[in-house]
Amino acid sequence: MMDRKFQKFQPKICYDIPISFLTDKDECDGNRRRAIEGKLVQTLIVPKKSARTWTMQRGDLCRISLIEGSQVGDLNLWNLDNTHEHFYSGKTRQLHSSHLKVYDKLWSCLPYLQPMATFVYDSLSDYGIDSDGGSLHDVIGTRCDDYTYKLITGKERFGSCHSYLREAIKEHNLKEADVHDVWNIFMCTGFTKDTNQYFCKPSPAQKGDSIEFIAEMNLLLALSACPQGDVSLQVGQFVPDSLCHPFLVEIYRP
Ligand SMILES: [Zn+2]
Repeated sequence: MMDRKFQKFQPKICYDIPISFLTDKDECDGNRRRAIEGKLVQTLIVPKKSARTWTMQRGDLCRISLIEGSQVGDLNLWNLDNTHEHFYSGKTRQLHSSHLKVYDKLWSCLPYLQPMATFVYDSLSDYGIDSDGGSLHDVIGTRCDDYTYKLITGKERFGSCHSYLREAIKEHNLKEADVHDVWNIFMCTGFTKDTNQYFCKPSPAQKGDSIEFIAEMNLLLALSACPQGDVSLQVGQFVPDSLCHPFLVEIYRP
């Protein structure tokens, strides 16, 4: 048998040109400043190993902070006025990159494809992309769930971002099928260079770190504090409570 030979082409960025024009950075910084100088309209705690929901008006700024220690979280977003429209992590990944940076937008599912929120501040932005290709705040993974846990370990479990989100959204009459692929905040992930396998690292985020985004439409949001905590132990291992922490969520209105 002859080895088949393939011609190797140079990669081309698929969506580079149109997207780079979509965020006016000065306008974005101004919107952030006006929101923070405005009114703090809501604060809530997402306790460790659980999920909570909240709503935002268009133009509101959401700050999510680590108030006790390192912790990763999974965020879901819906259009408050039409919950069929929700966050589309796959298209957001294609339009921007596998890990979101300040000024990137979070896009909604088809047929809507509208910006739902704009990422406006990240205290961890200096982390960048490490030598393994690891970076923060990915739109790669899905969310930890008890079905995959059972597939791998053979054991039943209740305790995952998916199940926390499923329970939290019941108060808004949303169902399990409404939980969708997430924005994976504060988590450090990438793909191995030799086998393209998904990897994670302990989160470099610490007490005091925060991210902020501005709502581009009226939003319903749900955030889970992952039972993997700071992800310093490999998935499947028992994670003690001491490695898990709550989030503080603050909503500012210009
Ligand atoms: Zn999780």
